[in-house]
Amino acid sequence: MDYFDLNTNLTDEDIALRDAARQFAEKEMRPVARQLDLLSADAAVAEDSPLWPFLKKAYSLGYHKILLPEYYGGLGSSALQTSLIFEELAWGSFGLALLTTVVCFPFYLICITNEEHLIEQFVVPFCECTDGSIRGCWGITEPGHGSDHVNMGEAFFSSPKLKGDVRAKLDGDEYVINGQKSAWVSGGTIATHTMLHVQLDPSKGFAGNGICILPLDLPGVSRGKPLEKIGQRDLNQGEIFFDDVRIPKEWMFVDPDFYVPMIDMILNAANLSMANWSVGLSRAAFDEAFTYAQERIQGLSPIIDHFTTKQRLFTMFTRVEAARAYVRAAMELNLNISPPHVEYSIAAKTLGTDWAFENANEAIQLLGGNGLTREYLPEKLFRDARAAMIEDGNNEMLRQHGGHVLKENYPRGPLDF
Ligand SMILES: Cc1cc2nc3c(=O)[nH]c(=O)nc-3n(C[C@H](O)[C@H](O)[C@H](O)COP(=O)(O)OP(=O)(O)OC[C@H]3O[C@@H](n4cnc5c(N)ncnc54)[C@H](O)[C@@H]3O)c2cc1C
Repeated sequence: MDYFDLNTNLTDEDIALRDAARQFAEKEMRPVARQLDLLSADAAVAEDSPLWPFLKKAYSLGYHKILLPEYYGGLGSSALQTSLIFEELAWGSFGLALLTTVVCFPFYLICITNEEHLIEQFVVPFCECTDGSIRGCWGITEPGHGSDHVNMGEAFFSSPKLKGDVRAKLDGDEYVINGQKSAWVSGGTIATHTMLHVQLDPSKGFAGNGICILPLDLPGVSRGKPLEKIGQRDLNQGEIFFDDVRIPKEWMFVDPDFYVPMIDMILNAANLSMANWSVGLSRAAFDEAFTYAQERIQGLSPIIDHFTTKQRLFTMFTRVEAARAYVRAAMELNLNISPPHVEYSIAAKTLGTDWAFENANEAIQLLGGNGLTREYLPEKLFRDARAAMIEDGNNEMLRQHGGHVLKENYPRGPLDF
């Protein structure tokens, strides 16, 4: 949507960053994403896959380190700039935008906890990487536990009956890790490092969890097959298994004392990212529908000239503009305060992904039969948007947690910067 930006205060730098991301999305992401979408999950990560040159290009431009502070070699973008870039990248491809970001997750979290020794060892090399060879992933979901991991407000979360599928036990100066993360780990079969959620103190259920950084070339680590799924097929996913994997105890950088507040911080970053990508997808759907409506003749005139089509396109436009305005506001709030007011980020994710799905659905409807074919983009947008309503927390589970946060914090006092 080459349209006026409601935010009229964008600086020249903001606009330059946005336009560069737009060009990258159009020229690099769209074609690669279309190719990957048609490949099998195995072929999408094979040696000759277009994924690898794409990642190399993305890293060389620094898109893998958008969320990381300049101080350690990250891009150090402002919240608004991150929002602008994320929207553009997801206009190119939601799945590839996510992959390009999730690679930074372990390193991002280390920066939040400010563990100097881990920053030198892990974060700096990641920021210096320009060829895509260091790739993180977020290992939280387990075969037996999906939503359970984000339901911190519910009593069961701290029940000793809640047994994690991945456990870590201290043995001298090392943790020994055993278990399995589910096939939903994004980048799971191709990552070099994971930010791994493990159960440390089973007597406290998941409130007894911790988080470690774990290089995935350690003895005892193995992977499952890349996952076949209907949406975001350009995003690799797969299981990771841990069989007596040993790590130095210093790599366990979040312990049970800090686990619950940390989950809110992670959810905050993940939900804000998802929200921004949703705006990009929603806008892509609008663009496809608008262009098609100008070209397709029915009733002797372009369908855009028909009264109902104008209404439908305008509703799509409204969803993009309203979601963007809200998502940016949530982003600017919650990337600039600590701890974040996570209910705003959850609202941004759930609203953004729901509206992205509605726009993708309407785009198919406006393209008629063509909308159902692979020749046109909306069917991919529809599949990608569908996955986003489950990704990083089912929307209904997120709303449940958001309701809990509201109840705990209402009324919020004034911000104390
Ligand atoms: C595209 C994609 C990318 C992802 N990326 C990652 C990743 O990088 N790393 C990672 O670890 N995970 C990832 N996930 C996993 C994702 O976070 C989980 O799929 C999500 O949390 C839901 O878990 P589940 O699929 O096990 O569903 P379940 O939790 O089994 O939920 C199934 C249904 O039951 C409902 N339900 C569950 N619990 C309750 C309850 N207490 N009360 C009422 N209803 C309930 C849910 O709303 C849902 O409708 C990804 C998922 C997708 C789709």
